[in-house]
This record gives sequence, structure tokens and C-alpha cells, in this order.
Amino acid sequence: AVHGGYRTALERGFVGAKVPLGLKRKRLRVVVTGGAGFVGSHLVDRLIERGDNVIVVDNFFTGRKENLVHHFGNPNFELIRHDVVEPLLLEVDQIYHLACPASPVHYKFNPVKTIISFSQLLLRFGPPVLSVHKTNVVGTLNMLGLAKRVGARFLLTSTSEVYGDPLQHPQTETYWGNVNPIGVRSCYDEGKRTAETLTMDYHRGAQVEVRIARIFNTYGPRMCIDDGRVVSNFVAQALRKEALTVYGDGKQTRSFQYVSDLVEGLIKLMEGEHVGPFNLGNPGEFTMLELAKVVQDTIDPDAKIEFRPNTADDPHKRKPDITRAKELLGWEPKISLREGLPLMVSDFRKRIFDDHSEVDL
Ligand code: NAD
Ligand code: UDP
Ligand code: UDP
Repeated sequence: AVHGGYRTALERGFVGAKVPLGLKRKRLRVVVTGGAGFVGSHLVDRLIERGDNVIVVDNFFTGRKENLVHHFGNPNFELIRHDVVEPLLLEVDQIYHLACPASPVHYKFNPVKTIISFSQLLLRFGPPVLSVHKTNVVGTLNMLGLAKRVGARFLLTSTSEVYGDPLQHPQTETYWGNVNPIGVRSCYDEGKRTAETLTMDYHRGAQVEVRIARIFNTYGPRMCIDDGRVVSNFVAQALRKEALTVYGDGKQTRSFQYVSDLVEGLIKLMEGEHVGPFNLGNPGEFTMLELAKVVQDTIDPDAKIEFRPNTADDPHKRKPDITRAKELLGWEPKISLREGLPLMVSDFRKRIFDDHSEVDL
């Protein structure tokens, strides 16, 4: 079949194909939406490293050019400033769709976030809640339309938040979740659930080749500083000699995955034969107080802990069951929290103390 006069990667016979050792692999054309962000920029590094042609599409809502500056000038790399809410015409083989304002302060008020940068975000992009909705729904629809037109394979980065405040523990992919549809988090949770629905509808209705990853809490270098996520908050606070802010009683749990493990999982999923959804996360589960202890041990044993009121609808516990990814993708995370945390500390130290671009929105 010809799609807009363009042969698909599959027809050209190299998507997912095993390349014999010594033979040069054909260069893929890959789009990464949200590629200037935390996860996206690490994914781009890996794709460029293996020799692909990479086009990043990003509106810099939370992403930064600094995350990609080392690829500028590389003829295999292209950066397009574009909001995925608007249609986009490209000819590509694969689409990694990551674009989404992913941190809580971008979709709900967070007292820890400095008011200055929050209002700057508002001035620039309008009400963040609507932007999350539009990106998840209209943005995903556009990227699926693009995938359909050119016959590209499409990977959605969904989230463990689709399980809401889960009543099943650990969470398997067959669990349908427990989400409050009208709560402050729901623009994100329900937005991603709708994105999953759209993805499966394009798969069933238009035969688009799709992949769905449900990503659990991920940390590492290039995370937004001050974006309100717990790992970035604790690391920044410990480095600045501020108290670590524990919300609620600190007994709620999360399972933290190092970013390189996630990137490996995303690529295995894209190249593999299975649609998913797949949980991609590290099953090592920690309470927020245990996380604070790991941060103290890693950065500053004297760091104080300060309790703050918790936010509404905060999931009580979260831990991935990754049996499916282990069996069908041959994937599992390799880096524990105690190994991974020091790897992001040097990046945070440099950005907090040497570089002031974070506040220059
Ligand atoms: P991030 O905020 O660092 O990256 C998101 C990127 O998308 C940014 O570069 C931002 O500028 C861009 N973007 C946002 N809206 C856009 C739009 N309308 N058009 C174009 N670009 C837009 O977040 P991240 O942590 O790297 O997350 C990447 C993806 O992984 C997201 O889809 C997120 O929902 C998902 N995810 C992340 C985690 C995590 O713990 N990091 C957990 C679950 C799911
Ligand atoms: N779209 C896009 N790039 C393309 C093809 C489609 O951005 O290369 C957008 C298009 O503007 C539309 C959406 O994707 O809003 C869904 O496209 P589809 O063809 O599935 O639906 P239709 O345009 O027929 O409503
Ligand atoms: N949290 C915390 N202190 C902070 C930021 C967050 O104790 O400074 C808690 C938050 O209440 C939640 C957990 O850490 O229970 C994870 O929050 P995050 O926003 O990082 O991720 P998500 O809730 O989306 O899993």
C-alpha cells in the first residue's frame, strides 16, 4: 500500500527486523514529540546514537533547548518549534508521542512552586489545565492522523496515573483503574486515558500500528527543577540546604525508575511486535519518608524534613507489575534508586548553582 505516495517502514522491511551483525542497519526517520523534555531528550540521545534521523517537535512548554544543544549542527537531527495541537505534515517511519505537560504544577496549583514562574507559564500558554487537555486529546489525534497518513508506527507514552488511586496492588495492565473524573488531577489522568482510547481506535479502525507504554514515576538528569515532582523537589531542596517537604504523613508510596531504563523499554516496545499497554517502571516501592532518607544519605544527612498538607486525590500507593514487559519485551529495569539518584545529583548541582536559565522562561 502507498500512503500519500510514501512507502511505510514496514513495507521497506526494516521495522522490528533483526539486523545481522556486521550489516549496516537502515536509517529510520523518527519523530519525537516532546523531545526537548526530560524523557524525550534522553530518548533522542539513544536514537541519534544508533544512527537514526530524528525530528523533535516541541513547543517548549516545559522542555528546554539546552537538553538537545549537543545535537545542534548534526545533519541527522532537526528541531521544530511546534504545538502538536496544530496539524503537522511530515514523512516519517516512527512517531514517539511524548508531548504533554507532565508535572503536577502544570495542571494543578502547587504551593511549593514559585509563583513567579507559574504566572509566567500562565501568561505564555494560558490556563494550564486546558493546555493539558488539548495536548492529550487534540495533540494525540493529530499525531495519530499523521501516523495514519504516512503509515508510521505510533507509540503513546501513557502513565501509571491511568490507574488513579488504585484498588489493586501492584497494578497489572488488566486493571481498569480508579480515577476521579472531576478532580484536580483528572485533566492529566483522563486526558491520558482518552489518548489511550484514541490510540486503540486508530489501531482497530484505521490499522495504524500502535504501541502503548504506561510509564511509572521516572527520575534522572534534565528533570525540570522546581516542577513540583517529589524526586526533583527533594534533590533541589537538599542541595539548597532547605527542608525536604513531605506531603501528608509521607506513608504514601511510589516506585521510582531511572530514565535510562525507561528509554530502553520505550525502544524495545517500539521495535517489538506487541501493542501493549505495557507498564514500564521499577517495582522497587518506597514511602515518601523512605525516599527522603535515600536523599539524605545521598546528598546531606543533616537535611531536615518538613511536613506539608497533601494535595487532593493523591494516590495512596503505586507499584508496577512488570511481568508482561519481562515476558513479551524481555525488558526489566537495571538501576535501583540508590544507584540512580547520585547520577542526577551532579546535573542538578550544576544547574542550580551555575546556570540560571531555569528561571528565564
Ligand atoms: P517533560 O515536561 O519534561 O516533557 C514534555 C515535553 O512535551 C516538553 O518538552 C514540553 O515542552 C513538550 N510539550 C508539552 N506540550 C506540548 C505541545 N502541546 N506541543 C508540543 N510539545 C509539547 O515531561 P517528561 O517527564 O519528559 O514526560 C514525557 C512523557 O512521559 C509525557 O507524555 C508524560 O506524560 C509521560 N510520563 C512521564 C512520567 C515521568 O515520571 N517523567 C511518568 C508517566 C508518564
Ligand atoms: N493530521 C496531521 N498530519 C497529517 C495527517 C493528519 O496533523 O499528516 C491531523 C488532521 O489535521 C486531523 C487529525 O490529524 O485533525 C486526524 O486526522 P484523520 O485523517 O484521522 O482525520 P480527519 O482529518 O479525516 O478528521
Ligand atoms: N510529594 C511530597 N513532597 C513534594 C512533592 C510531592 O511528599 O515535595 C508527594 C506527593 O504528595 C505524592 C508523591 O510525592 O504522594 C509523588 O508525587 P509526584 O508529584 O512526584 O508524582 P505523582 O503524584 O504524579 O506520582
